[in-house]
Amino acid sequence: MSDCIFCKIANKEIEARIIWESDNVVAFLDLSPQAPHHVLIVPKKHVKSLAECDEEDKDILGEIQLAAAKIAELLKLEDFRLVTNNGRGAGQSVWHLHYHLLGGRRFNWPPG
Ligand code: AMP
Repeated sequence: MSDCIFCKIANKEIEARIIWESDNVVAFLDLSPQAPHHVLIVPKKHVKSLAECDEEDKDILGEIQLAAAKIAELLKLEDFRLVTNNGRGAGQSVWHLHYHLLGGRRFNWPPG
């Protein structure tokens, strides 16, 4: 999508601190980190949110989870949190599916 910021990052039209990439997935540092390590993991294909995914997206959803585990290992994170905010009420502000990989501090449960 031409006006989507994460599509632009995936297409290298705007800069981001990309730390990991595969054919279908890109991971980059969040501009406004909420933990010592805060990485966004996004599919290169534009999908608005998890709720908009369907059967044809199941491989990419699996790839994202495996990418998260790999990146956590690269960052030497034993403990980490992987979260997606689905919808405005859950905190979603960018309308391109993304997972937050957070680590380097303790996390509370339930989350805020
Ligand atoms: P969410 O609120 O779950 O939709 O998360 C969107 C995240 O994207 C926020 O944590 C923002 O800090 C982050 N963000 C927005 N624009 C950029 C950007 N250009 N580069 C890196 N992170 C960004």
